[in-house]
Amino acid sequence: MQINISPASRAQPEFAVSEKSVRTCVHCGFCLATCPTYLLLGDELDSPRGRIYQIKEMFEAGGVPSAETVKHVDRCLSCLACVSTCPSGVDYMHLIDHARAHVEQNFVRAWPDRVLRKLLAIVLPNKALFRRLLRVAALARPFARLTPARLRAMLTLAPARLPAPDPAGEANVFPAQGEYKGRIVLLAGCAQAVLAPQINAATVRLFNRIGFEVVVAAAAGCCGALPHHLGKTSQSHALAKANIEAWCGVANEAPLDAIVVTASGCGTTVKDYGAMFAADPDWADRAARVSALARDVSELLSEFDIAFTGRPQHRPVVAYQSACSLQHGQGILKAPISLLRAAGFTVVEPAEQHICCGSAGTYNVLQPALAARLRMRKVAALEATGADVVASGNVGCMTQLAGDSALPVVHTVELLDWASGGPVPVALQGRTGATVDRQARADQT
Ligand code: SF4
Ligand code: SF4
Repeated sequence: MQINISPASRAQPEFAVSEKSVRTCVHCGFCLATCPTYLLLGDELDSPRGRIYQIKEMFEAGGVPSAETVKHVDRCLSCLACVSTCPSGVDYMHLIDHARAHVEQNFVRAWPDRVLRKLLAIVLPNKALFRRLLRVAALARPFARLTPARLRAMLTLAPARLPAPDPAGEANVFPAQGEYKGRIVLLAGCAQAVLAPQINAATVRLFNRIGFEVVVAAAAGCCGALPHHLGKTSQSHALAKANIEAWCGVANEAPLDAIVVTASGCGTTVKDYGAMFAADPDWADRAARVSALARDVSELLSEFDIAFTGRPQHRPVVAYQSACSLQHGQGILKAPISLLRAAGFTVVEPAEQHICCGSAGTYNVLQPALAARLRMRKVAALEATGADVVASGNVGCMTQLAGDSALPVVHTVELLDWASGGPVPVALQGRTGATVDRQARADQT
């Protein structure tokens, strides 16, 4: 695709990347078949190819984008299914990130939209604020039906009861057990640590059990993905810099084997820090060092022979839901499935594994109607497998699916921890269901 950006704009590093992405697209349209919004809406403007064309026109024109272009950019999930499908290797991820930042800088949204986006960007990365908001949301939940669509979506997604914080989510050093194998940093995260603290707890237990010291760095926090996908570049870069500084400090103290991320949406962003700061001489080297160390939890665990000698005798059948950020963003599809099978679980995959569940960061709040349609589609596919439990590698997907699914939803690492000696995953405790009941009885004996 031809693109004519002014020479001044082309000199900016973001434009150079975007220009290359646009030029790489050969209009073949293969990506349309796997794009969730094209699947739902059937509109070329809501397809990857259509969006690339609109973004190209937006950059060529410069300045204020049209409301129509903003609508189609906003409807993109950033699921990156198109990246997995594209035979030409179009770098759609950086293109849509750049488009969102351009929209944020140049387009004045209606005030309710502005306020909501600002609120999400402030509250979600801040654990204390997010916890407070969820407490208020739990009180307001019974009145959700009476509220506007986006507020209703937020209230519905908020858990009825907030889990207690877990020490594994706080700054600390968790010592290795048995033979020492190495030292890792854990990104304890922001929203995940509040919504599902059991994920960090299971990760710390599992890595300690197989011989790793686990460090949660005091100055690290939100990876920046949430503001990044809202186009709020300066905020996301500030958060990323805090993490880079904190983790390089940990790496300088003693040898560090990996920075482990348990939310694949965050992992995709941390792995991209190197590209994010490539043109910044003050940060490029350290950012690249952090990205090189970043590993999804399943990616790192699959390198070890883990002794799955834990209690579960009657392991439930697991429907594995592959988060888009893991399969399309990081190219990791088989590792979690192989690990679960090695742990003794029967694993089944839903139809349309490549299609997003509609979570996509803050998408399920900002685009509730489309997100709800994708969630129903995904839940139906998961339930049709006949499995006992759903496993996913991203807390966003877990929250999105748990709202509608009759099946319990857990993180993959909770099952792996259970199978290697940890407790029954929280979502399986007290569940009815043949396999889970048999297991609960076996665990009590
Ligand atoms: S990122 Fe997902 S929603 Fe956006 S254009 Fe690509 S496939 Fe479609
Ligand atoms: S598959 Fe790739 S090259 Fe083909 S239209 Fe889509 S983005 Fe362009």
